[in-house]
Amino acid sequence: MLRRDDTSTGRSTEALRLVSVSKTYGSGDTAVTALDGVTLSLPAGSFTAVTGPSGSGKSTLLQCAAGLDRPTQGRVVVDGADLAGRSESELAAFRRQRTGFLFQQFNLLPMLSVRENVALPLRLAGRPVDRARCEEVLIQAGLGERIDHMPAELTGAEQQRVAIARALLTGPGVIFADEPTGALDSRSTHEVLTLLQEAVHVHGLTVVMVTDDPAAASYADSVLVLADGRIVDEPPVPAASIAAERLTGRTSRNANRNANLSQDLAPSSYPNPYQRTSPGSSPRPSEKSQQARQPQMPQQAKQTKQSQQLRHAQAA
Ligand code: ADP
Ligand code: MG
Repeated sequence: MLRRDDTSTGRSTEALRLVSVSKTYGSGDTAVTALDGVTLSLPAGSFTAVTGPSGSGKSTLLQCAAGLDRPTQGRVVVDGADLAGRSESELAAFRRQRTGFLFQQFNLLPMLSVRENVALPLRLAGRPVDRARCEEVLIQAGLGERIDHMPAELTGAEQQRVAIARALLTGPGVIFADEPTGALDSRSTHEVLTLLQEAVHVHGLTVVMVTDDPAAASYADSVLVLADGRIVDEPPVPAASIAAERLTGRTSRNANRNANLSQDLAPSSYPNPYQRTSPGSSPRPSEKSQQARQPQMPQQAKQTKQSQQLRHAQAA
């Protein structure tokens, strides 16, 4: 059974709230504190990058925020709905109805066509699928020629765009993306992140994207920096960015948006130190940032992540 707030049609002005969220894996001597009292508030219609070194808790943050995993302590509110106390099946239904997901490995079901993949969450939720609307979002995602293709026939960027089209169709409260361009080259990265920007700035959706790639983070409006499971007060601003910022004054466009963040939760979000000056220009990630995309997680954490992704694919 879904709770009443799940069926409300009104959209919360606050897309995501975390209050003192902690997550500890294991216990005793082997306990690992992956998140340590994270508090944040993100308004609807925002594009936030969560960055930080490997092992800093980015994926754990995303999984707790998205209802894919439960925090050890603290509160998570997504699109106005508190996730506390929900059963696994309630959480799965909530994710289907109110959230969208992008993963590094695209998360499409290989036996379904592009169109069927896009319509899947609606079908599983027992909601009617508007065929014309389905085609419309695929065309918006640049996939008009691919509607009846199978995922294996698509490039990586196209597969990720199918996942974005799926989110455009359902209009979720929050799209959660974990390293969505981690498996893509720089040109494909640009295609996918430009589409995500459109989802936010044209369609009014909310995106929270985990990435350890500064080039990818530069597409977001603001950046949260994690270190050892905490949001750090001062993001490490690259010297080149500071110089560019002084020349262009580019952080000013974020000032109003950030002022809207809940005062009682500050500091929760920062202007994006990586933001590119021209949204139309193609990123040129350095070799260093390409290397930074390589997963550096321990094998156990990798397997856990894969099983969590599988769990979501099944839930979706
Ligand atoms: P990031 O995404 O920033 O690389 P993670 O959230 O994956 O970081 O991991 C944060 C910390 O929690 C790391 O020390 C990682 O090894 C640990 N961790 C993550 N998942 C698990 C798990 N399922 N069991 C034990 N430790 C985990
Ligand atoms: Mg991660």
